[in-house]
Amino acid sequence: MTRDIKRVVVTGGAGFIGSHLCRELLERGADVVCVDNLVTGSLDNVGELFARPEFTFVHHNVSDFVHVPGPVDAVLHFASPASPVDYLELPIQTLKVGSLGTHNCLGLAKDKGARFFLASTSEVYGDPLVHPQPETYWGHVNPVGPRGVYDEAKRFAEAMTMAYHRYHGVDVRIARIFNVFGPRMRPSDGRVVSNFLVQALRGEPLTVYGDGSQTRSFCYVDDEVAGLLALLYSDLTGPVNVGNPNEFTVLQLAELVLEVTGSKSEVVRRPLPQDDPTRRQPDITLARAQLGWEPKVDLREGLARTADWFRRVIAVG
Ligand code: UDP
Repeated sequence: MTRDIKRVVVTGGAGFIGSHLCRELLERGADVVCVDNLVTGSLDNVGELFARPEFTFVHHNVSDFVHVPGPVDAVLHFASPASPVDYLELPIQTLKVGSLGTHNCLGLAKDKGARFFLASTSEVYGDPLVHPQPETYWGHVNPVGPRGVYDEAKRFAEAMTMAYHRYHGVDVRIARIFNVFGPRMRPSDGRVVSNFLVQALRGEPLTVYGDGSQTRSFCYVDDEVAGLLALLYSDLTGPVNVGNPNEFTVLQLAELVLEVTGSKSEVVRRPLPQDDPTRRQPDITLARAQLGWEPKVDLREGLARTADWFRRVIAVG
């Protein structure tokens, strides 16, 4: 049965997905404790929430012991660098927040008798040999490559979450998140959607890595948050893929960005980063059947909304 979730801790709550989650949880009547060390998150993302008495911000690195006074019904662990550019610059911190940070947050959930929710990732599938990727696929990850710091941290986080579930009886949920985009991404985030939109709006060349034939499946943030919360309030442990199954090549994305923004930017080639996955597409059969969830916003519409937001941010930035 779905428990009453009244007070929620969101780690990484000042980040891109985390800040959308904080807002939506407040909308649904929960009290929110946002914990963030602001390494890749920003107070701008949660600025106006400070006026609400149901919102608390704690400036803390969850790789160190996490203490939250008072009752807690759910711990949502979203803290981590998530853009390849960030986790390649912060390899040790990324490994620590996925391992020690997950351990600390599980400890908090156990102590409070709270539900624990792990933000895992499609990167656990690595450069997948099975396509599209169902949750039953174990993945194809290079543990010693540069992306290993994120991929293996999240794989460890999943294993640790299941260990707490099996051995301590902690009630857990695991979501595997696929390429989310939307308002509140940083212009300098480094991921492909923000790079292309910002480049297009500034009239700069769009930087396609490799030949642009690699694929991703992009999920608009409002859809993603709806799916994540459906999982949180469900009885499903997971892991569950939460993503948009519509797959695009990077070149197709570049063309769509030029079309949506009306930009005359040219497209230039840059070297393909090491171990960049060749293709990625979630199989969301499980989420559809068990959560009654599927994405509603198509890529064109999502890009248009995100372009509007970047226009405003770049104008004031
Ligand atoms: N990419 C690109 N140009 C950019 C940034 C990324 O062509 O300016 C490519 C990248 O090589 C990858 C895809 O876009 O194939 C998605 O990259 P992103 O960093 O958004 O996330 P990933 O899915 O790799 O974690």
